[in-house]
Amino acid sequence: MTLHSNRSLLDIDRDHLIHPVTSFRAHEARGATMLQSGKGMWLTDMEGRELLDAFAGLWCVNVGYGHDSIVEVAAEQMRRLPYATGYFHFGNEPAARLAQRLVDLSPEGLDHVYFTLGGSDAVDAAIRYITHYYNAIGKPAKKQCIALDRGYHGSTSTGAGLTALANFHRNFDLPLRWQHHIPSPYPYRSDLEGDDDGIIARSVQQLKDKVAELGADNVAAFFCEPIQGSGGVIVPPVGWLKAIRATCDELGILMVADEVITAFGRTGPMFACEAEGVAPDLITVAKGLTSGYVPMGAVLMSDKVYQGIADGAAVDAVIGHGATYSGHPVSAAVGLEVLRLYTEGGILANGQRVGARFEAGLRAIADHPMVGDTRGRGLLGAIELVADKGSKERFDPALKLPDRLFAKGYENGVIFRAFGDNIIGLAPALCASDEEMDMIFARIRKTLDDLLEEADIRAVV
Ligand code: PMP
Repeated sequence: MTLHSNRSLLDIDRDHLIHPVTSFRAHEARGATMLQSGKGMWLTDMEGRELLDAFAGLWCVNVGYGHDSIVEVAAEQMRRLPYATGYFHFGNEPAARLAQRLVDLSPEGLDHVYFTLGGSDAVDAAIRYITHYYNAIGKPAKKQCIALDRGYHGSTSTGAGLTALANFHRNFDLPLRWQHHIPSPYPYRSDLEGDDDGIIARSVQQLKDKVAELGADNVAAFFCEPIQGSGGVIVPPVGWLKAIRATCDELGILMVADEVITAFGRTGPMFACEAEGVAPDLITVAKGLTSGYVPMGAVLMSDKVYQGIADGAAVDAVIGHGATYSGHPVSAAVGLEVLRLYTEGGILANGQRVGARFEAGLRAIADHPMVGDTRGRGLLGAIELVADKGSKERFDPALKLPDRLFAKGYENGVIFRAFGDNIIGLAPALCASDEEMDMIFARIRKTLDDLLEEADIRAVV
């Protein structure tokens, strides 16, 4: 199937544009799928094909495409003040107001906000601030960091080491020696499947064991997503996050919740941590903060960490972390409007309402012969495909199922994520209607049915 028609633009792209997280050679061979416009849940490609976006771009366009009010606040802010630095004690109104909104909306105690350009540099900033914090409070040995083995924490030169995906380490000389991983609580692939308490207890023990191995005096922090996104939408049992918070306190280490995907209504509440009454020491956010309309991320920092850093430096000693675009007024103005759409605009409430339909859709598709597991919370979900439902045996990688799934879904007018483990990742925008939600599942079912008709797949199911 060709997914494109505009040859000259495709050639330009192929010759000059390096795509993120893409095989250079595969891209040269395949070319880009050029997108042209978007409205609500729908994308239009350069051939004029209309596609239902069941992945909100890259789990970010939570309010949906084409909100004029966002365009207007951005244009207005660009006319008034397109740029202001945060250096030299300069400030700007949208950045200050957005920081205040985030403090008001986030769990108790996260009183301070540092703005970044996206999620990766939010994680990177969190690492730098944590390092600074322990040096400042006189515990310089506390530098080891622990994350989950299906975690994703971005792709900076340090953060990519906390990310646990093999291709983020391979040939990049990662992880670094202070970066460690423990197993993810992955109910479907656990021998304890169905025993939520057992899964939580084991995960807590694995964290304790790792800290004991490294020495509690050497461990700085535990990084985790409330639901692991890029690792295949791994949904821990309810109660896991709360147990992890308590364990971090017991061990005397900081807890960093990476809510780059899960915040801003993606799992139901404004922050996923809220659902379990958890207040981490730091939270990283991005994506839904501006719904992808302009780049922006943030680190939300507890007063404890902030005061530790502040007290540890002489009053006139500059803390050397920053970027030209931190607190960018246009991004912040967009962020304020996006937050207004979630709250007063009713988009968060719609996401919660249609989230129930999404979860029901996931449960219903579990009867398909290729589906081993479905899981999700709110509007974040996954469909894990297996060759054998009983043994949970995965499809042979030689079948190249992820590529075929994506291409067949595209043909059927639906875009989703097709992970390497034959996991379909779903994260539709919070603005979806009931009809659009039903259409997403109908198109995915048709995609699976079409693949099941292909001889090599039928032969192994
Ligand atoms: N953390 C998590 C949990 C993420 O999902 C992502 C992006 N998928 C990042 C960090 C990195 O964010 P960005 O791609 O905006 O740099």
